[in-house]
Amino acid sequence: MARAPLSSAEMSAALIDGRAIAAEITGKIAVETRRLKAEAGIVPGLAVVLVGSDPASEVYVSAKGRKAEELGFKSVQHTLAADTAEGALLALVQSLNRDPLIHGILVQFPLPAHLDKARVVEAILPEKDVDGLHPINVGRLASGIAGAHVPCTPAGCLILIRRAVRGELSGRNAVVVGRSNLVGKPMAQLLLNENCTVTIAHSRTKDLAGTVRAAEIVVAAVGRAEMIRGDWIRPGAVVIDVGTSRIPAPEKGPGKTRLVGDVAFAEAAAVAGAITPVPGGVGPMTIAMLMANTLAAACRSAGRPVPSFA
Ligand code: NAP
Repeated sequence: MARAPLSSAEMSAALIDGRAIAAEITGKIAVETRRLKAEAGIVPGLAVVLVGSDPASEVYVSAKGRKAEELGFKSVQHTLAADTAEGALLALVQSLNRDPLIHGILVQFPLPAHLDKARVVEAILPEKDVDGLHPINVGRLASGIAGAHVPCTPAGCLILIRRAVRGELSGRNAVVVGRSNLVGKPMAQLLLNENCTVTIAHSRTKDLAGTVRAAEIVVAAVGRAEMIRGDWIRPGAVVIDVGTSRIPAPEKGPGKTRLVGDVAFAEAAAVAGAITPVPGGVGPMTIAMLMANTLAAACRSAGRPVPSFA
């Protein structure tokens, strides 16, 4: 259902401007990249591997490549046919593992059904796994061991949460809706590492609305358009909307669509303390954190300290 934009009187929540925060962080990454090149002669190198021609994946991959070039990285893209054999994909990953000019490797998901995602992830050297999905990085994050690559979307969400929460994060009640390896689980782990009391909700959760209502911090990573309603939100809560879904937008013309999140924005913004928009919230942070992870990998390869953008 289309809703009129909120007037400032109707919207009590502060808008968390992911675009502006991501621009601030990528500006700092560009500065650190120039410093790394000047002082150590190293240019961060990011390789993105796309298998097949999924239109959404093509858009994501080209956005990542453009941003990497804009920041002064070496950026390479390998596009393989949809029917590429797993052995050929693994051989490409191995050659990127050996390439000293490549510090970060990202294989864009989803992969065609005949390819085993877990085998591909495990083939990437953990230090080049800038998506943070390799079991070594997952284990380091869970154990609080330094040097893990943290998955980009939850790493970006944590920065947005830190900026939006007034005062300490420690001791806050946080609810993460969604338990994927890419978003929900690492998000919960990051919040736990910040000493939040974390609940992970999912499709089998009983009384999802009541669970969300208890949260001072809500992270929604479901992929169901506007599922989380305004009356689920505790007044003053910080709401981070990871979800992206396209819904019909007849007001824009026949056959047109618009992007929405998992949260019914207009309703939630009238109750929350701070909220991310979709688009312009989490999405730009995901790309910024991919660049931060690649820069971190390049710094570690040279035995240099890793800049923090927290
Ligand atoms: P996913 O792997 O499909 O996981 C979705 C999660 O939502 C699952 O854990 C699922 O529970 C849970 N879920 C599904 N229906 C539910 C319901 N009715 N009630 C409660 N939980 C429910 O998705 P993902 O990769 O985490 O991505 C989530 C969303 O974020 C998608 O819209 C995706 O496009 C978006 N995303 C955006 C960015 C960005 O940069 N903006 C990055 C990554 C993802 P079960 O485990 O029980 O099935």
